[in-house]
Amino acid sequence: MQFTDLKTQYAALKTRIDARMQRVLEHGQYIMGPEVAELETALAAFAGTRHCVTVASGTEALLIALMALEVGPGDEVVTTSFSFAATVETIVLLGARPVFVDIEPDTCNLDVRQVQAALTPRTKAIVPVSLYGQVADLSELNAIAAAHGGISVIEDAAQSFGALYQGRRSCALSTFGATSFFPSKPLGCYGDGGALFTDDDALAQAAREIRVHGQARRYHHTRVGVGGRMDTLQCAVLLAKLERFAWELQRRAELGARYQRLLAAAGIQAVAVRPDRNSVWAQMTVFVERRDAVQAALQAQGIPTAVHYPAPLDRQPAYRRFATAGATPEAAAAASRVLSLPMSADLSEADQDRVVAALRAALDGGLRPA
Ligand SMILES: *Cc1c(COP(=O)(O)O)cnc(C)c1O
Repeated sequence: MQFTDLKTQYAALKTRIDARMQRVLEHGQYIMGPEVAELETALAAFAGTRHCVTVASGTEALLIALMALEVGPGDEVVTTSFSFAATVETIVLLGARPVFVDIEPDTCNLDVRQVQAALTPRTKAIVPVSLYGQVADLSELNAIAAAHGGISVIEDAAQSFGALYQGRRSCALSTFGATSFFPSKPLGCYGDGGALFTDDDALAQAAREIRVHGQARRYHHTRVGVGGRMDTLQCAVLLAKLERFAWELQRRAELGARYQRLLAAAGIQAVAVRPDRNSVWAQMTVFVERRDAVQAALQAQGIPTAVHYPAPLDRQPAYRRFATAGATPEAAAAASRVLSLPMSADLSEADQDRVVAALRAALDGGLRPA
């Protein structure tokens, strides 16, 4: 069993993907070829935004969004401590200070009720993460940001492309939406890729310039930029994969609901999903007590699992200096208990049954909390 089954997906899409890639090899425009604009148009239409700007990775999407908003030294950026390192490293790279806020224990998303207290006159942006595929409380967050003099909100949507929140898509909910097309994400290419989404014409233009070394036109550099383009070949792969994406989202929803039912019947607590939104289940995550032993028991039966994430960012050596003592107890508790199970649109129900049965057997065999 694979943790993320990309082989079955390729088999299903092989003719389309191969043809799309072959076309790029023949026209030869490997950088900024026609597939780049074609993909941006398709993704903007899907997400429901005026603009989509493809970039080299999800990390680059976060970096370019922060750069477009002119985040820098002296600025503070409020974010969650329970995420992948890219969320915080991009803030720190620009010389700004990350301010870590704790999470809700059941969804593992940023606890928006604690954001107000973290704001100061120096707060320039808020970066919520749509963890495991579910959007955080973006409406409340947007209201707080607007009331605080129009702070920008960047949704780290690396795990949530395709998710719905109050009837709208992830990536279309705030100043910027930043997603990743890393192969194992809900919409993945065959290498690195990412995209930014916005309704703001000026910010979209800034992002387009920053991704090509800050050029307003060739060799005329009006701002500091990066080499942040997404390859034409990767855009071609995604154009082919988009043809099956609606089906995959449907399948993810069905498998996610099925996991929820099976886990609840086995008395196993999974990450909660709020009623006004869904999850695209980038990860299907449960809470267990003796995690190392549970993981080993599953591994012994050929069932791979993963831990997202074993430590909060404010306890990592590189970012400890930004921690506020006692500020993130829920993130620390989650970090010691979360366990992600195999999940992808091509997971079979038989394998899913096997995962839950093995997990239940491990817990009933003495690994359940007293
Ligand atoms: C994957 C991920 C990123 C980074 O995306 P890359 O494409 O790997 O650079 C950023 N934030 C979160 C929450 C992620 O899961």
